[in-house]
Amino acid sequence: MWSHNFFAMTMNQIEFKNKKALVRVDFNVPLDEHFNVTDTTRIVAAKDTISDILEKGGAVILMSHLGRPKGKDDQFSLSHIVDTVSSILGVSVKFIDDCKGEAVENAAAALQPGEVLLLENLRFYEEEEAGDHAFAKALSQLADVYVNDAFGTAHRAHASTAVIAQYFDNKCFGHLMSREIESLNKVMDTPERPLAAILGGAKVSSKITIIENILDKVDDLIIVGGMAYTFIKAQGGSIGNSLVEDDKMELALSIMEQAKEKNTRIHLPVDVITANDFSENATRDVAAIDNIPDGWMGLDIGPKSREILKNVIVNAKTILWNGPAGVFEMEPFAHGTIALGDAVAEATKNGAFSLVGGGDSVAAVKQFGFEHKVSYVSTGGGAMLEMLEGSILPGIAAIND
Ligand code: AMP
Repeated sequence: MWSHNFFAMTMNQIEFKNKKALVRVDFNVPLDEHFNVTDTTRIVAAKDTISDILEKGGAVILMSHLGRPKGKDDQFSLSHIVDTVSSILGVSVKFIDDCKGEAVENAAAALQPGEVLLLENLRFYEEEEAGDHAFAKALSQLADVYVNDAFGTAHRAHASTAVIAQYFDNKCFGHLMSREIESLNKVMDTPERPLAAILGGAKVSSKITIIENILDKVDDLIIVGGMAYTFIKAQGGSIGNSLVEDDKMELALSIMEQAKEKNTRIHLPVDVITANDFSENATRDVAAIDNIPDGWMGLDIGPKSREILKNVIVNAKTILWNGPAGVFEMEPFAHGTIALGDAVAEATKNGAFSLVGGGDSVAAVKQFGFEHKVSYVSTGGGAMLEMLEGSILPGIAAIND
């Protein structure tokens, strides 16, 4: 299934000279009360793609959504970000206060090689999220080439992210999308072994599809975070007040059984940091994970687990990391996540390929400064989660078809 993605069109296979490229970017950036951009990550991430087209002699028409407006609403206007985009790109970006109609067509037609035009928020039209064909077709008529670089919305079948692709003969992924896809393929399709996956976070139920999808691909599956307790209780352990999903215990046992059949090694924590309350100021102790006293809950992996799991991670040649080892938002329960992050960083330094992504994992990685010590940090929470679950995203399928 992954090889679908692997042979995807990249920008290097497209001629941009004297062409107009319509580039779907993800400029859904946070704004403060004065409409200043407070985090430019997503704009910076699109720079490679835009600059490359300009350097090759093309013109760029940028389109994006911003927030969740109900119809036209100045609060969500992309006019607020024009200066920021201009300064990041080092090009004076033109702006047009609509994304369809005659004025837009004229502005697009007048665009010269080396110039950049930003269209108004696509979600001012409900046709965008509805995946409306006429809306997609109207957008497509503005340019010669379609480039999708909006990984953050690639799991949505919207007009500008998926439907539009059918109206172009020349279409490709932008560099950011290509990097996301290649990184995932390195893990899922062509991993150097051993391949270790670290799955953490709160619930088995939200990670179960990922577990099922990767169980026969990985050599080592490390299960940490709140999820681990359902596996321990299912095997007869006492977990006190720890997070548990009783209705997922059967499933946990079946996963353990399947892992045995597939020769996948499952690693669960052996000890945990316990607390008498779900709070930063709770009284803490250490307990065996299957012998947590009544009234106590496990909120992080313990010192023995850190050592054992670190050892698995530093020996891996490919690592996938999704979800924290404990309640990392509270300092006393962040040490497990930091220890695993250190191990991923060490393995990466020694030549392993490490991919972090899906859901909120990226927040933990950034908070503890591991961002530049791993091989790749995915920019799309929901999109990466769905890829890890084995889905082919509409935004990716549309380019490949
Ligand atoms: P997820 O979005 O599924 O990756 O879950 C992330 C959340 O899981 C974080 O907010 C953590 O605080 C939480 N979490 C991790 N370990 C535990 C635990 N042992 N008990 C309760 N919540 C946890």
